[in-house]
Amino acid sequence: MSLEKRKPEMRIGYGWDSHEFRPGIPLKIGGMLLPHDKGLGGHSDGDVLLHAITDALLGAIAGPDIGALFPPSDPQWKNADSAVFLREALQRVKAAGYDVVNLDSTLILASPKIGPHADAIRKRVGELCGIPSDCVGVKAKTPEGMGTDNAAIANVAVLLKRAD
Ligand code: MG
Repeated sequence: MSLEKRKPEMRIGYGWDSHEFRPGIPLKIGGMLLPHDKGLGGHSDGDVLLHAITDALLGAIAGPDIGALFPPSDPQWKNADSAVFLREALQRVKAAGYDVVNLDSTLILASPKIGPHADAIRKRVGELCGIPSDCVGVKAKTPEGMGTDNAAIANVAVLLKRAD
């Protein structure tokens, strides 16, 4: 058996994000525009799910987090498409020698209902991450007893496997 130190065969990553609802702006979750009277505020497009996926990917390779790579203080990320952040994380995963296997997410928000849009979100996130939509979990809960009805929260776990 070789004593050569090999990279782990698999790596797990976890990401979390939250954004506040604001009236009069579009709602983007998982790269999809969803019909609603409020959107998620933030310096970029406020896509809470893509931000949590980006952080999960970066965490899996022990990289810098989304805020370090794309500081909110930098005007070039104002209203940015969050797919740009995700793409950078995916490039870093590839450069580290890993492929994405699957990811699972839980959204926590009072409204709108995610169920009717879950398949579309899984398909879009799968396209963005280069994995089949049946490797993308999208679950949603309402924030019972949490007092966060004006926020959307995303939790994401991602699994990577060594590319070689
Ligand atoms: Mg965010």
